[in-house]
Amino acid sequence: MIAANILLVDDDAQFIDVMKKRLTVRNMEVFHAGSGDEAMQKLAIHGEIEVVILDVKMPDRSGMEMLRVIKQQYPLVEVIMLTGHGTMESAIDGMRLGAADYLMKPCSIEVLVEKVREAVDKKRRHEEKIVDAQVREIVSRRL
Ligand SMILES: [Mg+2]
Repeated sequence: MIAANILLVDDDAQFIDVMKKRLTVRNMEVFHAGSGDEAMQKLAIHGEIEVVILDVKMPDRSGMEMLRVIKQQYPLVEVIMLTGHGTMESAIDGMRLGAADYLMKPCSIEVLVEKVREAVDKKRRHEEKIVDAQVREIVSRRL
């Protein structure tokens, strides 16, 4: 079983290339996008995406704007914000807006993998609770 289905969003193609290789060898399925618009397309096509790793600095849409749209359209998808020195404030705002976590660039692969695992666990637990609630609701209607 795949450990996580990830969407990596960053306008830095080299960063995507390196991270994709490192995450793939750790049994993760990695989709990628170089812009905000491309990220939304990938989310629409690949319903299996569980975690988005989101660069806060991109040319077409800001990370904050992306976070808002993703959480609105895909409330169960977890988002990890990737921030640099100048964008720490966005990471803090992002946490307030429902990001699962944030990471400072350059980030160690071990820390990233750990945060992805936590985010995936969180999402899967969340979905289990929703299914449990649905089952209870069905059972209670029959009583
Ligand atoms: Mg960037």
